[in-house]
Amino acid sequence: MLQIQELLINAERLLQDIDELGRIGELPAAEGGGLDRRAFSAAERSARDFFAAKAEESGLTVAVDGAANLSAKLHCGPANARTILAGSHLDTVPNGGRYDGALGVLAALEALRTVREAGLQLPVHLEAIAFTDEEGRLGGITSGSRAFAGTYRPQDAVRFITQAASYPEDFAAMQSYLPGGLSEESMLNAKRNLAEVAAFLEVHIEQGPRLEHAGATIGVINAVVGRYSYEVTFRGRSDHAGTTPMNLRADALVAAARFITQANEGVCSTFPNAVLTCGGIETGPNVFNVVPNHARVMIEFRAADEATLAVLDSMVRRAAAESAQLAGVEHTLTPTARFAPCSLDSGIQLAIRIVAEGLGLRHMTFSSGAVHDAHSLAPVVPTGLIFVPSVEGRSHCPQEATSDEDVVAGANTLLRTMLHLADRFAK
Ligand SMILES: [Zn+2]
Repeated sequence: MLQIQELLINAERLLQDIDELGRIGELPAAEGGGLDRRAFSAAERSARDFFAAKAEESGLTVAVDGAANLSAKLHCGPANARTILAGSHLDTVPNGGRYDGALGVLAALEALRTVREAGLQLPVHLEAIAFTDEEGRLGGITSGSRAFAGTYRPQDAVRFITQAASYPEDFAAMQSYLPGGLSEESMLNAKRNLAEVAAFLEVHIEQGPRLEHAGATIGVINAVVGRYSYEVTFRGRSDHAGTTPMNLRADALVAAARFITQANEGVCSTFPNAVLTCGGIETGPNVFNVVPNHARVMIEFRAADEATLAVLDSMVRRAAAESAQLAGVEHTLTPTARFAPCSLDSGIQLAIRIVAEGLGLRHMTFSSGAVHDAHSLAPVVPTGLIFVPSVEGRSHCPQEATSDEDVVAGANTLLRTMLHLADRFAK
């Protein structure tokens, strides 16, 4: 008789699904290649239909909530049992890849099919979910999972519906896709009864090079980093570039350049586990022969704990003030966004490690520098995030790739972790 802990997914079927789904929304090379399945687009709706059809033909129960999150459920527990939920998203960025999000949804689907075919009765139910608009086409990232978690605010719903309505054809299609229509109210009503959700698990590609460099297959994620972003504006004075002596200038761009260098060097020298990026700059008048009178720098940094974020915050503020003073210009610093870091359930991390060992997979533990749907769920239910390697760390581009072997390893880790956790979450 098959021991529960020896169960493995059907690798061939999963790889076939990834291949088929990877052709939905494919762009010709002339348009940059890769996929375009932005939320609610015709291609993303086809991806939803693909997932729903596969789930239904496998005997799973398909449902959609008020935020258009799409679920496939396997009732394999007692009537009053809680549910272990697993999934990710089906939408992509423009010219995106075939693994970001899709892997987590299809691995969850495959895990449920495997349990169903083995005829297992568990102390929990299982559910695979595709969350709406993780990539943020319609109003900030992870809208669907935040609505599900109940942390979506009325103003988020207004922004989402306003944005969605600005694509009239897609919006109309989604209106008829949802049984009760899509509205601000339906978005807010998507909050799930979390007493029924025992845990959430997400398999995701790493989107970075750490696993590949370490020769490991499974990333056990212990935290999702926090992210602070700011606009820093330096204001100096326009003067003639030929007649104004260097020591009499108030050059805003020199201040910005000094600030960017100082902030980067500060992170490199003192915070090996943090990242800082000055991703954009605007300056004016932006011509050869006038001393720049203003420069606006977009800066963000990320770290896994509040204490580091707080120290980085003061380092950035100090760098801005010192750079402005040295260049003889004024400056303002405006915070534009703040995402708090969140740690992931330590019991689930342990379960993932035990499972990976059992499967003979090398694993390593680290924090995620990118936000995923798991970030939305972690504050409200025990949550686990499993990474598999990205070839050369590439992602959000047509070159995004993960080897078949690693795809299968990630899905087996998910399946076994669900089974491992089932007893812990029995009622
Ligand atoms: Zn993703």
